[in-house]
Amino acid sequence: MKQDNPTYDLECLDIAKNFGSVRAVKGVSFDIPSGSFFSILGPSGCGKTTLMRMIAGFEEPSGGDIKIKGKSVLGVPPNRRNVKMVFQHLALFPMMNVYENIAYGLRCAGFGKDHIRRKVHDVLERIALPDVAEREIHQLSGGQKQRIAIARCMVLDPDVLLLDEPLGALDLKLREAMKIELKLLQHQFNTTFIYITHDQSEALVMSDNVAIMNQGEFEQIGTPQELYHRPNTAFVAGFVGDSNRWSGTVKASDGTGGKVETEQGLPMSFSAGAGQTIRDGAKVDIFVRPEFIRTVRTAEAAAIAADGDNRMDGVIDSLLFNGANSRVLVRTGSGELIESDVTLTGDNDLKPGEDVSLVWSSKQAMCFARQESA
Ligand code: ATP
Repeated sequence: MKQDNPTYDLECLDIAKNFGSVRAVKGVSFDIPSGSFFSILGPSGCGKTTLMRMIAGFEEPSGGDIKIKGKSVLGVPPNRRNVKMVFQHLALFPMMNVYENIAYGLRCAGFGKDHIRRKVHDVLERIALPDVAEREIHQLSGGQKQRIAIARCMVLDPDVLLLDEPLGALDLKLREAMKIELKLLQHQFNTTFIYITHDQSEALVMSDNVAIMNQGEFEQIGTPQELYHRPNTAFVAGFVGDSNRWSGTVKASDGTGGKVETEQGLPMSFSAGAGQTIRDGAKVDIFVRPEFIRTVRTAEAAAIAADGDNRMDGVIDSLLFNGANSRVLVRTGSGELIESDVTLTGDNDLKPGEDVSLVWSSKQAMCFARQESA
């Protein structure tokens, strides 16, 4: 929507943070177009919270610059940055009712009574809770508390809303519902949301763009679809979505594809990840997603062999029922357990103990040269 002249609510330029000898964030650069939903996804300890705290102003960076709406905010205290933050524990005031909670920030900013009343009622309408103003916090459901925590920030018209794993404390069902809710709220307010999480399903469902963070650095920034289908690194391929993974050595390569011998001694063909050149003799990791592997009874395998240029035979170890699309775990002759997705129809379905063949295309085998690290 803003392709010709993009404006950025937030720009981070080579931002870094050291705690003594711990390099929590190692020079990260990114910008976030106005009005988008951006997630930072990574495992525990990768530096997400530290990055967020620098954006909010609770930590000073060791290096780099942070700009909000084009202006550097280095040295500007949190309360003078137009950034608000929703914490996992929400931090609502339990002794105040909903109205007072939302009005609090406006009062502190010195606004008059009428203005505050208008703003509070307006924000309650926008979060679709127009009738809860007089409720006490303990009278709200978990989902309503989440929305009030967001309303309390949004009533102050921030340039950027930071959300630090706000769904972490919710039960699974409510978390699922709140993912959709948060996305809708972000659209409704048309404000930039930056969401940090270690839960990929949250990031993929809600975000316009996601940064995958690992050991203080961004591995890749992309749309959920790009990260899932075109990961740039083995870490991203393994972290985003489910994958079968093999390690091996390249035996023949034309640069963009070729053959690998896996550590189990099995041949496998692959195509290289985006922009990569894979050379003969390289140690590689290969990732194949379960939904791209077809499972057929071995007796019927010859008929579909043309579909894929990779095939492994095995025995069904177990079936994890999940409605129409279920996961089948196949034990191969070399003892590996391979996961593939099957569509169950209830009629002549596969069963544990059956001999099956797994077939997939080299185009679905994402291959990455191994980074030999310390
Ligand atoms: P989690 O998902 O578990 O919250 P995270 O990705 O948010 O993790 P951070 O909390 O940013 O990670 O921590 C990144 C690294 O910096 C970790 O190694 C952590 O131990 C270290 N760290 C964070 N804060 C401090 C601090 N105040 N002093 C020293 N080390 C710190």
